[in-house]
Amino acid sequence: MAGGNAAYVEEIYEAYLDDPQSVSEEWRSIFDQLPKLNGVELEAKHSQIRDQFRDLAKLGPMGRVAKAVTAATGGDEKQVKVLQLINAYRFRGHQHANLDPLGLWKQERVRDLELSHHELSEADFDTVYKLGSFAIGQDSMALGELFKSLNRTYCGSIGAEYMHITNTEQKRWIQQRLESVQAKPEFDRETKVNILKGLVAADGMEKYLGSKFPGAKRFSLEGGDALIPMLKQLIGHAGTNGAKEVVIGMAHRGRLNVLVNVLGKNPSVLFDEFAGKHDESLGAGDVKYHAGYSSDFATPGGNVHLALAFNPSHLEIVNPVVMGSVRARLDRRGCKDGSSVVPVTIHGDSAIAGQGVVQETFNMSQTRGFKVGGTVRIVINNQVGFTTSKTEDTRSTQYCTDIAKMVQAPIFHVNSDDPEAVVFVTKLALDYRNTFKRDVVIDLVCYRRHGHNEADEPNATQPLMYQKIKKHPVPREIYADQLTAEGVVQGHDVDKMVGDYRAALDHGACVVEEWRPMTEHSVDWSAYLGHEWTVPYDGSLTVDKLRELGEKLCSYPDSVKLQSRVNKLYEDRKAMIAGEKPLDWGCAENLAYASVVEAGTRIRMTGQDSGRGTFFHRHAVLHNQKDASTYMPLEHISDSQGPIEIYDSVLSEEAAMAFEYGYSTAEPDCLNIWEAQFGDFANGAQVVIDQFLSSGEAKWGRLCGLTLLLPHGYEGQGPEHSSARLERFLQLCADHNWQVCVPSTPAQVFNMLRRQVVRPMRKPLIVMSPKSLLRHPMAVSSLEELAEGTFKNVIGEIDDINPANVKRVVMCSGKVYYDLLDQRRKAEQTDVVLIRIEQLYPFPHEELAEILKPYQHVKDWVWCQEEPQNQGAWYCSQHHFWQAIPDGAKLSYAGRSASASPAVGYLSVHNQQQKALLDDALSI
Ligand code: AMP
Repeated sequence: MAGGNAAYVEEIYEAYLDDPQSVSEEWRSIFDQLPKLNGVELEAKHSQIRDQFRDLAKLGPMGRVAKAVTAATGGDEKQVKVLQLINAYRFRGHQHANLDPLGLWKQERVRDLELSHHELSEADFDTVYKLGSFAIGQDSMALGELFKSLNRTYCGSIGAEYMHITNTEQKRWIQQRLESVQAKPEFDRETKVNILKGLVAADGMEKYLGSKFPGAKRFSLEGGDALIPMLKQLIGHAGTNGAKEVVIGMAHRGRLNVLVNVLGKNPSVLFDEFAGKHDESLGAGDVKYHAGYSSDFATPGGNVHLALAFNPSHLEIVNPVVMGSVRARLDRRGCKDGSSVVPVTIHGDSAIAGQGVVQETFNMSQTRGFKVGGTVRIVINNQVGFTTSKTEDTRSTQYCTDIAKMVQAPIFHVNSDDPEAVVFVTKLALDYRNTFKRDVVIDLVCYRRHGHNEADEPNATQPLMYQKIKKHPVPREIYADQLTAEGVVQGHDVDKMVGDYRAALDHGACVVEEWRPMTEHSVDWSAYLGHEWTVPYDGSLTVDKLRELGEKLCSYPDSVKLQSRVNKLYEDRKAMIAGEKPLDWGCAENLAYASVVEAGTRIRMTGQDSGRGTFFHRHAVLHNQKDASTYMPLEHISDSQGPIEIYDSVLSEEAAMAFEYGYSTAEPDCLNIWEAQFGDFANGAQVVIDQFLSSGEAKWGRLCGLTLLLPHGYEGQGPEHSSARLERFLQLCADHNWQVCVPSTPAQVFNMLRRQVVRPMRKPLIVMSPKSLLRHPMAVSSLEELAEGTFKNVIGEIDDINPANVKRVVMCSGKVYYDLLDQRRKAEQTDVVLIRIEQLYPFPHEELAEILKPYQHVKDWVWCQEEPQNQGAWYCSQHHFWQAIPDGAKLSYAGRSASASPAVGYLSVHNQQQKALLDDALSI
């Protein structure tokens, strides 16, 4: 094992790893022993194995190894080299593949792909070698033929990257699919013609828009035309394989083309949009290249429902939304393995490498709470991001798709000027996804015929590229020439196709033959449309029913041994249900969930610590101390109950919240909750809050009933754990787009959560949820209060204070109320009343007016908050407060001074500030 022999043994070992049959019996028997000796997996790195060899040598069997080395030299040596050559192509063939239609990529010379690197030469071309696992359908082949075959398979229009996958079955599966047809299957005439029709449509659509609406932004697909036949074949193949729905997410590039040529949007509707017409029913509306669409698509396996997700300009953010939407559809269909709904996300080359949310979605892709059976990810790689094209500016990796390797996804780079190769890898990718339930990536290497949009001048920034593009024939011409040369079509057939397509556009008719009116989507939103927030909520339940639910909530099998603190909490909870103790927050919240599932409604809750609760209050998921198994009492409420899923989520805010937005917009019959670990962390998902939650209905008419639980409250925890940034949510309030609530009692959280799903209205619910109130002795309720079944948007004074004596009315929300109450009670003060605004938006003017009636003589009104003056509700809701107080009264502010930071970091300063604001509010 010393000196030169070591490298030789390693090489044989590599060949053995790839295919044990490819090495001689003697070697095999030695290698077979290795993993068993020291427990190393068969596919361990050879450096580890080398160390093992060294260890072995120390132990004594060195003699055997040395003998075997001598025996194997000679005939076996070249055989091993041939197997290494095969392996080299599998690993690195993509680096020599013909991927760039423009021929601009500078490919490095890969020595591993040369015969000489393996000490082989053309002189060996006639020698027949065993092929090991090379899946071409024969055991052996002359080297010359093999070399050609390797180049065809791995260095043609497809660059396959899959050898980073550690799972042998997956690698073998891909090898079988690629090598058996040398990455170039024979397509029948019909498929070829359909592919050509797709290219005719892609090109025809852009040319038509370009001539009818010159200079208008359309984010043309031109250069990436293959996307159209690609998607159509993908959907057809999905339907043939049993899929019932395909959900697509894509940015603006090529979107109009996909809308018309794949989803079958009526072109006349699109042309009207270009001409400035719009849907009067939408508030704000959106630009046409953000629009979503739904239709059905006929496939040999039956109709497939298509949904193109609406999305904003923020690239890549639609991916988790699509995944969430798919998960909702799968859940509704009771499909656990992802087979009935296929997510397809379409990325940009700069964006997939640049945007962190992509990483978050890859990380989610195999987790319990977020998996969807794999996503087919297509990159429209036009080799430029807006005006940034040099790879040293856009990324630090060779390929834009390298991010996908984090989940060992196979990546198929494909030259988009070879549409048959595109269709081949597309079907291969979908089959991989369906077989292994994992993500897969197709890198559609293409170009962008125009600038970022049609008004842009690309030569200003990409001169050489655009000189090439100008001379480059359009994909339709290239493929039409190929099919003409093959005799599949004649020149006049192509002219007719082009003419027919244009005529169809002129007539404004749907141009997708497979288009069908929608029947396959599985949810009806009509019951949820058109409701105002004032729609009544009657959530009353009997106390007996609550007790029955509570008992189930506190039951778990004897085999589940609880940790002592959890046990104490459950004992307390039992006492609360029995009426022996007042109910706390955790008990009321769990009762809300129990009552919702009991009614047959689904609950889905995710957040970084949702099972337990960040602050140890929920304990919806019990962890058995004996065996670490988990038990969820909420799953055992009744035989006919709705499903409940509570997952501790991946450590993400952006993708996790976007996923839940996607889920909620696809499933109205669900109490869907995303919980932040601390409320301020939600600002990591600001794009989701801004682009989807607050504005999705106004822009796209899409309802969403997602609840955000955002722990909020000033308890001296410093700048990052105090504020859920209430002001940001309030600033986005308009058009009754969502609800912002600050519940202050267990009965309020119980009814707020139930109201969210019992009422037919579906609007996001933003909750400033508590931290210290979870255990506050005054923040308690009775079962009777829960049973009342009303959420009080405003809570009036609870102490017996004579209105005639009142000199000041203090309005507030959240935890500060209890501090004020405590201080006022201690001071036995009777001239100030405390009014809690539990729903800050939509502002409950009528309820507040009713509660304020007895205080119309009062001139001194105060808004008290814990947040600094520039934050919290003071500025954003002040106009509502002014409207609520009597004419001529004064409204003042009691709270922290304006501050750049949400909270101070020093507990002593926090305490001083807190005392000062309470004094301000209460001292007259
Ligand atoms: P989809 O399954 O997403 O294609 O939706 C099918 C149809 O259901 C759409 O065309 C809409 O009419 C309706 N729909 C879907 N999602 C929503 C939503 N979030 N809000 C309102 N209507 C929706």
